[in-house]
Amino acid sequence: MREFEGRVALVTGGSRGIGRAVCEELAAAGATVAVIGRNGDAAAAAAKELPGSGHAGYACDVGDYDAATATLKQAEEDLGPIYTLVNNAGITRDTLLLRMKSEDWDEVINVNLKGAFNMTRAACRGLMKRREGSIVNVSSVVGLIGNAGQANYAASKAGLHGFTKSVARELAPRGVRCNAVAPGYIRTDMTSGLDQSVVEELQAHIPMERLGEPGDVASVIRFLAGPGARYITGQVITVDGGMVM
Ligand code: NAP
Repeated sequence: MREFEGRVALVTGGSRGIGRAVCEELAAAGATVAVIGRNGDAAAAAAKELPGSGHAGYACDVGDYDAATATLKQAEEDLGPIYTLVNNAGITRDTLLLRMKSEDWDEVINVNLKGAFNMTRAACRGLMKRREGSIVNVSSVVGLIGNAGQANYAASKAGLHGFTKSVARELAPRGVRCNAVAPGYIRTDMTSGLDQSVVEELQAHIPMERLGEPGDVASVIRFLAGPGARYITGQVITVDGGMVM
């Protein structure tokens, strides 16, 4: 039997990049997947292409508390109780601190950090009541080591680490786990704008000498979300080809 057979997973930012690869992994493992993105058509199209049947896409800005709550409720009504929540939706508004606008800070914190709170808050009552399930937050190695030009993004990801550990402590006695995955540089739309010279410079600092692919992260999320990780909670697992160790 596949480990997510008969289970429902909700993946934010599931229409592209890492989130899409996560949806594919979980669907291949038997899950019914709720794909969330601001663009509902893209989320629905991604859901349609997943292996198996019964998946659905939903338009939702995870930074909007009421929308996040309503979307999770709707997904549970349509697909069944959520067993796995993957808080993956994220954005960047990179610039040096001297040039960073108040909106650049607010937008990134609102989507990357408050978005995870909003979805987790909406999901936690059901997870705790059923005394099973797992949450995986997608942070970044930048949340561990910082990065010039990404003060807002690094703060949001470091915040996710504190959030992950606090939620893990609160929910562990109720049978629910919460972990984070901190990817290094992964080939997605988010990093497609990097100059070749920057990519070469990055690769020089990656022992495995390549950028990651979305599937490299998705397979770890599948493991952390699933029964093989049943005694793991409150951890931040880096998936970065050895860049940060
Ligand atoms: P991506 O290719 O830009 O995809 C982002 C996804 O998030 C899309 O599905 C997007 O759909 C959705 N999204 C963005 N804002 C949203 C919002 N407010 N509400 C709901 N959905 C939203 O990004 P990615 O590279 O796959 O990154 C995924 C996660 O991994 C992010 O949290 C990112 O910070 C993290 N990460 C990425 C890398 C990397 O190198 N790529 C490294 C470390 C960490 P819509 O546009 O339709 O909303």
